[in-house]
Amino acid sequence: PLAPRKNRKKPHIFLPHLEKVDKSYIMVKPDGVQRGLVGEIISRFEKKGFKLTGLKLFQCPKELAEEHYKDLKSKPFFPKLIDYITSGPVVCMAWEGVGVVASARKLIGATNPLQAEPGTIRGDLAVQTGRNVVHGSDSPENGEREIALWFKEGEICEWSPAQTPWLME
Ligand code: ADP
Repeated sequence: PLAPRKNRKKPHIFLPHLEKVDKSYIMVKPDGVQRGLVGEIISRFEKKGFKLTGLKLFQCPKELAEEHYKDLKSKPFFPKLIDYITSGPVVCMAWEGVGVVASARKLIGATNPLQAEPGTIRGDLAVQTGRNVVHGSDSPENGEREIALWFKEGEICEWSPAQTPWLME
């Protein structure tokens, strides 16, 4: 028979299904691809310990860019933003992890790269809001929405990284 719950030993294996795992859509924008920053940007999220579940180089059609940024439709910079996002290939990524949405926003830094802290992607690698090299979902809900928007079924890979028990107790 099992010992009373409070006396039971904590399992020494990490059980990720017991934690709330978020999903974030991260994208290297066309300037990041043209400037050869793809590896550097992927590396920041990979080293932090998040799990990559989707990755592709992709030429974004205008309709998709407009849908992705639909909340900004009334902004004066909207047409320029759509031209920018569709001006060349982007790298689409789906990342998973506990707290990944909020953490990725911190790793990315402020929208205006001149206000982004050194050490963040935009703080280290960009100078202008209109060329801020990377996108990251702003809420877990938008993370799910954007991954569904940018990836087709079969493009997302569920897997268990070998490092998990060395990353979380
Ligand atoms: P974030 O990407 O940091 O979540 P927003 O959702 O406010 O920022 O804006 C989406 C994107 O629109 C920005 O990353 C940037 O590429 C572009 N953008 C925002 N504000 C401006 C602006 N004033 N001028 C030009 N582009 C802008």
